[in-house]
Amino acid sequence: MKIIMLGAPGAGKGTQAKLLAEKYEIPHISTGDIFRANIKNGTELGKKAKTYMDQGLLVPDELVVDLVVDRVQQEDCKKGYILDGFPRTIPQAESLDAALAKLNDKIDYAFNIEADDEFIIKRMAGRRACLGCGATYHIVNIPPKTEGICDTCGKELVIRDDDQPETVKKRLDVYHVQTQPLIDYYKGKGVLIDFDGTSNMYDVFNAMVDILGA
Ligand code: AMP
Repeated sequence: MKIIMLGAPGAGKGTQAKLLAEKYEIPHISTGDIFRANIKNGTELGKKAKTYMDQGLLVPDELVVDLVVDRVQQEDCKKGYILDGFPRTIPQAESLDAALAKLNDKIDYAFNIEADDEFIIKRMAGRRACLGCGATYHIVNIPPKTEGICDTCGKELVIRDDDQPETVKKRLDVYHVQTQPLIDYYKGKGVLIDFDGTSNMYDVFNAMVDILGA
């Protein structure tokens, strides 16, 4: 079960990927999380990625493709995996397909979570992230037990730099130009399935489980 999550930033890719990974016991591979962990640990990759991320821009393909291609070949990915935030450009998708084809493998599903910009801008304004473990919350939809504090590690919750309103607008522009063409790319491969990202997160999850099987 090899799944790609598509959709604008804030459409709910990460939330659904996490739920699916728990249910099917396969890795949730989020390139955004990988970059944020590298930034936190002060690595060279983190330093390079941060300059793009803070502006709402995509990190260059060459910094992300090999990282993902290596990751999906690790032992824990044998049963499958969920890619969240990758691919984000046509060249990334083509590199992934080429690497998988060499392994006699392919992507089974591209789940596209649809939500318009206005909805996303409103939703992102309520998003909060933990400074400690990176867990994400929403002040209305997924509130922490104690306001402003992470349920998991007890650290402070903040608005991520790239969730600031101006950066969100930039990320949406980048999404429309660079990432949205992937919808037609995966439609052409016969693996695209659309979901309504404006509905309740459990309804979206259940619709995905209907496709994948219990
Ligand atoms: P995310 O958490 O998936 O929204 O990613 C946060 C940021 O990380 C994005 O706005 C990009 O700057 C960067 N990023 C994550 N995944 C990719 C990717 N596949 N290609 C390029 N940049 C990425």
